[in-house]
Amino acid sequence: MKRLRELVRAAGDAALQLTLPLFEAPPALPPRAPVAWPPRPEAPPPRGPVARTLPPVEPRTTPPGRGRRVAKLGPHAVEYELRRSRRRTIGFFVDDTGLRVTAPRWVTVSEIDAAIADKQGWILRKLVEWRDHAERRERLTVRWEDGGRVAFVGHELTMRLSARADAPAVSLDGDTLRVALPPGAGTEQLRDTVQAWLQREARALFERRLPIYVERLGRGPTRWRLSSARTRWGSCAPDGSIRLNWRLVHFPLEIVDYVIAHELAHLEEMNHGPRFWATVQSILPGFEAARRQLKDFPDDLTLS
Ligand SMILES: [Zn+2]
Repeated sequence: MKRLRELVRAAGDAALQLTLPLFEAPPALPPRAPVAWPPRPEAPPPRGPVARTLPPVEPRTTPPGRGRRVAKLGPHAVEYELRRSRRRTIGFFVDDTGLRVTAPRWVTVSEIDAAIADKQGWILRKLVEWRDHAERRERLTVRWEDGGRVAFVGHELTMRLSARADAPAVSLDGDTLRVALPPGAGTEQLRDTVQAWLQREARALFERRLPIYVERLGRGPTRWRLSSARTRWGSCAPDGSIRLNWRLVHFPLEIVDYVIAHELAHLEEMNHGPRFWATVQSILPGFEAARRQLKDFPDDLTLS
């Protein structure tokens, strides 16, 4: 059994190196309406070991078929796919389809069950991470069609399409985003048109919010630019310039302000030490709530 545990540990560590898809990868889930936005005001999920209710990892309604088994992990019944392989170790893999276990043919089912029990903390944590990831991505995934929803400064806009002969036009009308497109325009043209509008709005929003925090800090960036980086919400360069990701325009104002305050604070402190956080606190008291909210999106974009 000791040897088995070692094998399990080695295999589990390899599976920990999961890379998660980027922001605008194709949706992993079929579109579902309505889209929940802004994020529910519930407490953010705890970090570290699993300590929350886990309804979505209850067994699926389909009975376990060939190769599908159910493991009891504490109070949770988790369905998984068992594959026999020629490998010499037991492997655990968690992705958006659930848990998969591969095991050598000579390992008995009870040994596999014991190995799963041994690894249950990791398994449950990964299942929760993937479920949360799918939910977050679904919230940010726009269906580019009439009636599709777009998150805009924490509000949810519904796109209404119409045709017009000349250039595309976008206008905001309450919670409705009216988009007029030339006849025959496709999904891509709708997306490009709305994203161009969002970028203009992001620029205008940042231009309104930046001076507030520049004044509080007593200094400003040498320049700032809009970014569409796939990996960063914002950044501050040693030359004192700042980049802000236009996709922040999807988020509530508190988060936009936090990213701005965070990057401006780097003008004082080019690190994330205590003095840096004290600087953020001095220009944006109570920033922690926004910071926690943004951390719910860590697998896609980070802050530097
Ligand atoms: Zn930073």
